[in-house]
Amino acid sequence: MGIYIHIPFCRSRCIYCDFFSTTLAESWQLAYVEALGQEIALRAEASEQGTKMQCDTLYLGGGTPSQLSGQALARLFSIIEQRLILSADCEVTIEANPDDVTPEWVALLKQTPVNRISMGVQSFDDEILRFLRRRHTAKQARKAVEILHDGGFQNLNLDLIYGLPGQTQQQFENDVQEVLSLQTSHLSAYALQFESGTPLFAMREKGLVTEADEELSLGCYERLMDITAQAGMEHYEISNFAYPGFRSRHNSSYWTGSPYIGLGAGAHSYDGRCLRSYNCEDVRQYVENIGKGVLPATTEHLSSDDRYNECVMLRLRTRDGLRLDAMESEFGTERLRYLLRMADSHLRRGKLQITADKTLCLTRRGLFVSDDIISDLMV
Ligand code: SF4
Repeated sequence: MGIYIHIPFCRSRCIYCDFFSTTLAESWQLAYVEALGQEIALRAEASEQGTKMQCDTLYLGGGTPSQLSGQALARLFSIIEQRLILSADCEVTIEANPDDVTPEWVALLKQTPVNRISMGVQSFDDEILRFLRRRHTAKQARKAVEILHDGGFQNLNLDLIYGLPGQTQQQFENDVQEVLSLQTSHLSAYALQFESGTPLFAMREKGLVTEADEELSLGCYERLMDITAQAGMEHYEISNFAYPGFRSRHNSSYWTGSPYIGLGAGAHSYDGRCLRSYNCEDVRQYVENIGKGVLPATTEHLSSDDRYNECVMLRLRTRDGLRLDAMESEFGTERLRYLLRMADSHLRRGKLQITADKTLCLTRRGLFVSDDIISDLMV
């Protein structure tokens, strides 16, 4: 099972971001970390696992986990040590902002079980970084990678964004090349989304920015696939690339429908079958409810159709695709027939393929229109 811990604190907000995060004062951090410990205890009790929960992957995401003070970080890992049982080869990831990565921070991390760092670089162009209201510069991102490598962290992911207003294909290619030259083990690259409620969305509504041309975004994605393939990286999920042996095990478990527990304000959990739950997106309310012994979670029961749709949406994103025999045994012969009927035109156009081991996967051509294909296969 995977465990996700949400650390919602950010020093400032980036204009494109719709993740749950807060700029609440640092004084909230210790209370929040204590509440996380209480949530683990409440969930362990509810699941009858005793006082401890076991996990194979642990992911500290945000928000900005690297914004935790040294005291809060140390307390969080002492709680983790007391209340979680990490498997012998547990993948333990922490997300970081480049300007938080210092030799002192890395020295603190070395005293914890963290063995993978995921860093939001987004671009190596300072003008773009300023526009996005990222706190760091390109120079700080390069330095952060150097500090992490010197500190003994070799399993590093860098995030990039493409399709940014004003960004050229050449600029994005330079970003990808720069990631490769920094010799990190993993790259996640996402097309910019204009999410409702963000300052970027409002800017577009007012005509202050225009969305990148679709051709340009597709061109960026094509070059991303070519450059990473030439470098020997596996394209194992629509937006994720890794050198052999460095796939993100935690994120892979989301795409394959494994159970996970999300701890903290705004975190989601899934039992691997038909129950999903969502913690409230409010730090104060979260701390208060947990203090009273109440899990501030809303539970949703997934119908068979919901589970089928999720399965198609998540598994088709991966290079490993959808196993047809597993789909039949999980959803029945009728639903498998439906899937194949809806897939037929895409199979004929070479956008989907069925491999020798009876797995339905996107082809390279299909990757460019994956959203359309996935929605066609849903009920
Ligand atoms: S640092 Fe990350 S979580 Fe915080 S606002 Fe920026 S993108 Fe969102």
